[in-house]
Amino acid sequence: MGIALEIHRVCRDAARQHGPGRIESVRVAVGELTAVEPELLRFAWEAVVAGGRHAGSTLDVVWCPATQLCSQCGDVKDRAAGSWLRICPACGRPLEVTGGDELDVLELRFTPDDDAGGAPADDPRPNDRGDGP
Ligand SMILES: [Zn+2]
Repeated sequence: MGIALEIHRVCRDAARQHGPGRIESVRVAVGELTAVEPELLRFAWEAVVAGGRHAGSTLDVVWCPATQLCSQCGDVKDRAAGSWLRICPACGRPLEVTGGDELDVLELRFTPDDDAGGAPADDPRPNDRGDGP
C-alpha cells in the first residue's frame, strides 16, 4: 500500500502541472528484485484512488526481470522461484546481476478538464464498469 500511495503522490504532482483533470492510467516499471507483487500493487492502487477524483484509473505494471550474467556461461536464466542466489547454477561462479530494481513511473495518461466553464459538475461516483477480478 505504501508504494501505491507513493506512486499516487508522484502522479498527482505530475498531473497538477497540467492543471485540473483526471488520471486515466499510469504505467509503472516494477523490477523483480523490488519484492513488489504487481497484482497486489494494482489492488492497492484501486484502493488508493477509490472514491477520489482519479477513481477508476488503472495501473499498468511493466514487469522488469533482472538479468544474471555468468562470466563463464553468459546469460543465466535458471533460478529457483522466489529466491535470489547470485551463484551460477551451472558452474558455481558468482553472477553479475543487472536490472530488476526498477520502480518507476513510466507514463501518465491524463485527461484535462477542458470544460471548466459551464459544463455539468463532476460526478463523484467511481466509474463502475463491473469489471471482475
Ligand atoms: Zn556459470
